[in-house]
Amino acid sequence: MKRVAVLGATGSIGRSTLDVVARHPEKFQVTALSAHGDVAGLKELVGQFRPATAVLTDPAAAEGFEAWCRQQGVRALVGPQGLDDIAADAGTDLVVAGIVGAAGLSSSLAAASAGKTLLLANKEAVVMAGSLLMAALARSGGRLLPLDSEHNAIFQCLPFRDGRPDLAGVDGIWLTASGGPFRGRQLAELADITPEQACAHPKWSMGRKISVDSATLMNKGLEVIEAHHLFGLSADRIQVVVHPESTIHSLVAYRDGSLLAQLGAPDMRIPIAHALGFPERIESGVRPLNLLELGALHFEPPDLETFRCLALAFEALNSGPGASIALNAANEEAVAAFLDRRLGFLGIAEVVADVLHSAGSPAVTTLADILAMDAHCRALARDRINKAS
Ligand code: NAD
Ligand code: MG
Repeated sequence: MKRVAVLGATGSIGRSTLDVVARHPEKFQVTALSAHGDVAGLKELVGQFRPATAVLTDPAAAEGFEAWCRQQGVRALVGPQGLDDIAADAGTDLVVAGIVGAAGLSSSLAAASAGKTLLLANKEAVVMAGSLLMAALARSGGRLLPLDSEHNAIFQCLPFRDGRPDLAGVDGIWLTASGGPFRGRQLAELADITPEQACAHPKWSMGRKISVDSATLMNKGLEVIEAHHLFGLSADRIQVVVHPESTIHSLVAYRDGSLLAQLGAPDMRIPIAHALGFPERIESGVRPLNLLELGALHFEPPDLETFRCLALAFEALNSGPGASIALNAANEEAVAAFLDRRLGFLGIAEVVADVLHSAGSPAVTTLADILAMDAHCRALARDRINKAS
């Protein structure tokens, strides 16, 4: 029986994870669940999965929550510290990092330091602190299994030796991108895009922040940096290709000319089931593709001029870890402002570029350095957003 904690249980990743878990009651026991402000959603999941602990990270939403948990015989924790507690708990084997944004960093690091198997969707944590996270896993003997579909695909196309994916013989990787809802559009056509339009992804159903990131192609940029840390590849060995059908989830190019790909329906339950069951294959609830029904697959280069965020992410990766923190912090602030209608769609890339270029890439090694750089860049971004509106 694998004991699983799901952080960000009420989100898109959290719910897909619990959907797979519920199909295998003999294999998984849910030990802890977390949500930020969605108390009703968390209560419903607590009722269904009966975890030992439930964490509500937003104290403003917690009225009556602790009393309710007491009645259910469930330990309640309120506030963000509870995430680190459940991530490092001795009674848990697998930690699903399904929180969005920098808010997931501390608990991802806590799970890595405690030697857990970290099923990671929270790419912002890797972009901010990839070196620290990988070092913590190496020290503790923990392991990372990627949930992000592209990185999970790469992982599946690599041999696994001595507890890690083995990159011997690998030339490079191809990360596929759907191109998002505005693929093929020109810059001038994007000025009046609304949050509703940006969140209507043609292939994937996801949370609002990652949906906007997919529309700007920042999501692919964050994934390039994520791949650099997860697989130890320099930027020149990571290529992005637009593949609108989202059938091939990514590919590994080997020295001998072989290209290995992982294919599947665009449904996160596939990578999630792969990681939950690893190394065993378990049912995900998704039907395999029928090649005879698939039709043609298409590939095209990304348009880096219209979708500048992807170019900015490569620039940040080549500039050093401080620049990746700046990129992520500015993007989180800009996307939140866009979703609040305080910033236009094209303003997102402008804010990110300004912050990236004014913050530089100072040396960041410790968690304190990372958090200080993140706070500094968020302040720069907010200032820039206020001036724009
Ligand atoms: P979502 O918005 O649907 O869910 C986010 C979850 O995090 C919710 O449970 C929410 O309560 C919690 N949360 C939000 N703010 C928080 C805070 N300040 N403190 C603690 N918890 C907080 O997001 P999602 O689409 O599930 O994405 C989660 C992560 O997974 C993101 O990093 C995203 O990039 C990554 N990811 C998502 C998908 C997908 O298909 N949704 C695919 C690949 C990677
Ligand atoms: Mg992805």
